[in-house]
Amino acid sequence: MSTEAQQHQEAEAETFAFQAEIAQLMSLIINTFYSNKEIFLRELISNASDALDKIRYESLTDPHKLDTCKELYIKIIPDKASNTLTIIDTGIGMTKADLVNNLGTIARSGTKAFMEALQAGADISMIGQFGVGFYSAYLVADRVVVTTKHNDDEQYTWESSAGGSFTVRLDNSEPLGRGTKIVLHMKEDQAEYNDEKKVKEIVKKHSQFIGYPIKLVVEKERDKEISDDEADEEQKQEDKTEQEQPKVEEIEEGSDKEEAETEKDKKKKKKIKEKYKDEEELNKTKPLWTRNPEDISQAEYGEFYKSLTNDWEDHLAVKHFSVEGQLEFRALLFIPKRAPFDLFENKKQKNAIKLYVRRVFIMENCEELMPDYLNFIKGVVDSEDLPLNISREMLQQSKILKVIRKNLVKKCLELIEEISEDKDNYKKFYEQFGKNIKLGIHEDSTNRKKLSDFLRFYTSSSGDEMTSLKDYVARMKENQKDVYFITGESREVVASSAFVEKVKKRGFEVVYMVDPIDEYCVQQLKEYEGKKLVSVTKEGLELPEDEQEKKKRESDAEKYENLCKVMKDILDKKVEKVTISNRLVSSPCCIVTSQYGWSANMERIMKAQALRDTSTMGYMAAKKHLEINPDHSIIKSLKSKVDMDKNDKSVKDLVNLLFETSLLSSGFSLDHPQTHAERIFRMIKMGLGIDEEEGEQVVEEEAKPVEDMPPLEEASRMEEVD
Ligand code: ADP
Repeated sequence: MSTEAQQHQEAEAETFAFQAEIAQLMSLIINTFYSNKEIFLRELISNASDALDKIRYESLTDPHKLDTCKELYIKIIPDKASNTLTIIDTGIGMTKADLVNNLGTIARSGTKAFMEALQAGADISMIGQFGVGFYSAYLVADRVVVTTKHNDDEQYTWESSAGGSFTVRLDNSEPLGRGTKIVLHMKEDQAEYNDEKKVKEIVKKHSQFIGYPIKLVVEKERDKEISDDEADEEQKQEDKTEQEQPKVEEIEEGSDKEEAETEKDKKKKKKIKEKYKDEEELNKTKPLWTRNPEDISQAEYGEFYKSLTNDWEDHLAVKHFSVEGQLEFRALLFIPKRAPFDLFENKKQKNAIKLYVRRVFIMENCEELMPDYLNFIKGVVDSEDLPLNISREMLQQSKILKVIRKNLVKKCLELIEEISEDKDNYKKFYEQFGKNIKLGIHEDSTNRKKLSDFLRFYTSSSGDEMTSLKDYVARMKENQKDVYFITGESREVVASSAFVEKVKKRGFEVVYMVDPIDEYCVQQLKEYEGKKLVSVTKEGLELPEDEQEKKKRESDAEKYENLCKVMKDILDKKVEKVTISNRLVSSPCCIVTSQYGWSANMERIMKAQALRDTSTMGYMAAKKHLEINPDHSIIKSLKSKVDMDKNDKSVKDLVNLLFETSLLSSGFSLDHPQTHAERIFRMIKMGLGIDEEEGEQVVEEEAKPVEDMPPLEEASRMEEVD
């Protein structure tokens, strides 16, 4: 036994259990019947390419990091004899801790999400999108051995035949220098995947746009000239080892060169086929973005997009352009068909614009290139002007980058505009990325106007199709000055809200904003094509009115002035003011909020946010105005009651009840639902003709905490006394 082999044996293997969800995922991968197994290679090559990206990036600031291996490449070695397929990369490698964490003990959000997606009918080939692509190796292999060397650690080997556990040991075998070697011990029935031709085919299909050379180790045959004696010798050797007979053939006669040779030589020399290993580079295609767009087919864009993003479907739209002049760059931007499962969860990772400088890959997620709201755009930017050794820190300062970013945003908006020309396509786009547009309106003041053209909403007259603000404006009534909208929890809730009644009845259209983000969006938007956006739930709603209507309103205001005052006194601090309403039809009253405070919907959203900063709650919380409907019978008779005797005992109760009920119907929640319930019960008793017993007249104002209530015994004794 050689010393190397001895050392190899001495290294003790530590055994680890796979994290439960990962173990579950692996057995799913192993046991699910699935025919499109070839995607495992795409996943492993993609991991290799990521690892190469990482070391390349580190080397930009510290070139010595490449000392352990200068050349950056991926090598694939199919080996029929051992039924293995080996994938080697000279990337960043993994430390022992990386191995243990990344390949088995730490589950990512994607592990569970992927299994759920599978259950919901997703396809295994989607695995890469969920960040668990490595495990697809078990589609074709029953044992996987990963040997890896990171600059900061020794060389380690990870090994697992699934079944819930893996081992890691120090590896003293042949040093890798730096990088990772993955040996797949193929399942008996998956031997086709370690066939040269098959590998070539898969790489061409899925990985042709990888930015590092992918070398395939192939077995070739070449002619070797030998003399008769040597041939005899070879023959003997071959016979001895009982191997296939070498193909020995006579040299053809008659060629020019051979004519020069003597007859004797000709007779003596033989030619045999000799096997040898060679390397073929499989992805020699020029980077797609450097080519002329006119020469690129949609299918090629699709392949490129898929290899860039790990998506399993083609993109929805693509823009390929170059900018020349002061500053030069080329870019290729894609809009996917779907939002990723974690679009708004993990902002950092998702900004998928790859930055290149003069064809050299610089970094994966160049956040400086795209604003947050366009984080769903994928693509490549290749700059002619940036320095090659640019670091993240320099990027933040770079003027060049700022100009590129401005151009990219402009092109993205053009691209969205193009999609919007096809209604069906745009619908698909908006379902997936509508929130991003709204976020953009909130974030990007420069492009707010352009972005507002992309908004779509349901309205009181849009039916099942969403409408743009442009179309809304085109439909506006002649006397209509403003765009009316309501924010709320759902289409159903806002459609039946008392606030939209009158506006609708008067023939005006109301925009329904039912996405939480709409509240933020509309706060910034304020107007569209010079028309103010007016909330029908906030103060200051002015509906166009004729002379007669104006007169009526003024006389109502006078008539009801006293009632408003009495109500305000009763409600005190609970409302800012009590006024006559111009927006109600069948409801007696409603709560509107002040122009600049939160709406009821916003208050609901804020209360629902567990991590909100409670300090804003106080001053932002909706400032409430109670509006009463002068044409409603309840208000009319309340007025006469007050006019007769403003100290009437029941008035206070009625006003409070009206207020609380309007809170509810206007979309607020009650601070003290118990008090409200008690009021209602008293009403029900009245309705049923049950006499109010004095002993039961407890809790008038705020519901008292339980400790303040008299003990049960005492309470009943009090009743007896009475
Ligand atoms: P991901 O989508 O993050 O690549 P994988 O399950 O495919 O998910 O891989 C898990 C992690 O293992 C990777 O994020 C990376 O840190 C590490 N890894 C996988 N393959 C390699 C490799 N060839 N070189 C270095 N690290 C790797």
